[in-house]
Amino acid sequence: MSEVKYCQGPKCHTYQTKDRLRGPKGAKYYQTRRKSSFYYLGGNACSMTCQNDWFDKFGEQAVNHFGRIHEPIKLTVENAWRKIERYSWQMNDGQPQYYWWNSLIDQELPMTQEQYENPDITKPRRQIVVQVEATNSKGDIIQQDTIKI
Ligand SMILES: [Zn+2]
Repeated sequence: MSEVKYCQGPKCHTYQTKDRLRGPKGAKYYQTRRKSSFYYLGGNACSMTCQNDWFDKFGEQAVNHFGRIHEPIKLTVENAWRKIERYSWQMNDGQPQYYWWNSLIDQELPMTQEQYENPDITKPRRQIVVQVEATNSKGDIIQQDTIKI
């Protein structure tokens, strides 16, 4: 059970609804809503109106306090991979197919369902495979190796 808390909207008490009404006859008043869970402002405001009131009053300060962005944040090729689940009429055993998709380079790579469902896997792992061959003076291959980097 989470504790009961008050709506953080600075004008919540000014909205004259029955549920905000308190006090005995002759000494009535409206007060801030109180609940164990709210749906707005990350669980801190009772309504979108109260959320907007909070932001109108404190948003500027909050942005400055937690770090204003002064430079654009860039999503570059290496981090632009998206997971795609594709259903088509041409399905393999009725199963969807999974792909990595990178719109910056217009590239698509296949992936497994396991990779698709694992939230820790966020980009395809690139592996460089080097075929190494050594030849003798006659050109015969005398050694063959595969190196994965
Ligand atoms: Zn409120």
